[in-house]
Formats: sequence, structure tokens, C-alpha cells
Amino acid sequence: MAQDSDAEDRSLLVVLLEAHQGLWSQLNGDNVSGEEHRHLTIHGFLQQVLVFINTYLSLNDANQVAVIAATSTSSALLHASSSLLHASSSLLGATTKQPAAETSSNPSQEILANLADLLRIQKEHPGVAAGPALLSGGLSRGLCLINKARVSARAGGKRSARPRMLCLQGSPDATQHYIAVMNAIFAAQRSEVVVDACMLASTDSTFLQQAAHLTGGIYMRPKQRSALLQYLLTIYCPDSSSRSHLQLPQPLGVDFRASCFCHRRAIDVGYICSVCLSIFCESVSECTTCGTDFSKGRMPAAKRKAGNSLDA
Ligand SMILES: [Zn+2]
Ligand SMILES: [Zn+2]
Repeated sequence: MAQDSDAEDRSLLVVLLEAHQGLWSQLNGDNVSGEEHRHLTIHGFLQQVLVFINTYLSLNDANQVAVIAATSTSSALLHASSSLLHASSSLLGATTKQPAAETSSNPSQEILANLADLLRIQKEHPGVAAGPALLSGGLSRGLCLINKARVSARAGGKRSARPRMLCLQGSPDATQHYIAVMNAIFAAQRSEVVVDACMLASTDSTFLQQAAHLTGGIYMRPKQRSALLQYLLTIYCPDSSSRSHLQLPQPLGVDFRASCFCHRRAIDVGYICSVCLSIFCESVSECTTCGTDFSKGRMPAAKRKAGNSLDA
């Protein structure tokens, strides 16, 4: 009986880490005064995240974890529990290279080795690696893994583990990825995957705030980055059903404003491209995202007619 309840309580956690060369110097050079924001090195960050992952795995033998790194050009699977990897092998084989030591019994070693490889490759190709991380790619890959695990569990006649994702982001939102990120968030909402988010930068992420709000997850921007582990263990370790019994920090508010694609400003009222739904803070003659030309449609009727006759 104990085993049955254990199986029901098991959960599947996908941790999405932002991983690019500039992130750590960017975080430490963040224009923030005050002691609380100092000192989160890559070593400190990884140590705390690995302790969190190992704690989560030790809560229940049946818990599964996958760790995905999002870079500016791609997302890479750093580690996945062997049961999960087995279920997802066909998907991963088709879309990405698998981790070198896929059946390693030590998640920490595998995560560190694969992350080191990833950062080394980025260092060798600095031009390619520049730019914000692909949050949408990481979210989509995580959702694919979760879906594959669900299908596999269903095929085996088992209950699937309760899935959730935890995004650890350190860069400000990349508004050029707005549509892709929002689509991934809506996909998570529709497939009932809880998205938790921990923002390490000194400014809030509207993408992650909306992701947590829409999927019933928790968004948090720790005041003391160096105490990240404390936040991870107390807030993100309990699964979504246990959270109802806990007194967790309440969100101070969600910024629902969309960002304009031209200046990356959060706006309350703006112009929307009727073709691709890109948002602009001011009227534009051509959509910079899809290239739709609005100049003719905005011309006064008389002028348009004159233009047409001249063309003819
Ligand atoms: Zn603008
Ligand atoms: Zn457009």
C-alpha cells in the first residue's frame, strides 16, 4: 500500500537552466547596490541547484528529473532519469544529441560534465553563442519530454508522474522571442504542466511571471541570491499538491503588459500586426517581424486611388 501511495506521489521535475558564457559576469556586474545581490558565482549556483535536485530525488525513489540547459542557439539535455530517458529515447534521438553518460547513476556528475562541454563549445564559438537564451526552446523541449513520459506511462497502464517545470533564469526577457515563449507557456497551460520560475536577475521577468500565473506555478525573484538553496528547498521542492498546506510567499502582482517589439518597452496600449500579432508602441509602416506592408492600407482613399492609376 505504501508503494502505491509512493507511486501516486511521484513527480516529474524538469529543471530549465539558462546557460551561456556571459550570464555569470552579467549577473555579478548587475547594476545593483547592496550586499544581498553580491556573489553568486557559477560554482555557487551549480552547487545549490545540485543539492536541490538531489534533495528532490531523495524525497521519493520514484521521482524523475530532467535538466535542460538553454543557450542562445539551442537547448541541450544535461541529464534525465534513466526511466525518463528510456521513455523519451525516440524523441531525443530524432532531435538532439543525448548526454554522454546517459545511464550514469550520479546526476550531479553528469550535469556538470555536460554543462562543461556545452560552455566549452560556446567559448570556442563566441559569435554564435552571443545573445539571450532560448527560453522557448527549453520550455518546448521540457514539454516534449513530459508528454513522452505521459504517453509511455499510459501505454504501460501506469499513472503518469505529476509533471512540473522549474525555470532558473538570469537574463532579462528577450522580447524578440515573445511569441515563441508565450506559445510555449500556453502549451504548458493546456497540458496542465505547472511552470515555476526563479528569476536571478535584478529585474522581474514578465514572461516567467505570466508563465507561473497561467499554469498555477510560483514566481519568485530571491532578494538574496547567495541563499538560493533556501528558496529552492522551501518554495520549489514541495510538489503542487503539497503546496496547498504550506504558507508560501504570495505573488506581489503579475505584470501582464506585453512588450513592444520595437523598443522592448512594456506597454499598456499599442498597435498589433494583424498577421503575426507582433506588438508595437507606435504606428509602423511595415511589420518588422513578418514584413507585412501597412503603408498602403493607411493611406487616405483618394491618395491610394491616385497611386494605383499612376502604377497602371
Ligand atoms: Zn516600441
Ligand atoms: Zn507582422
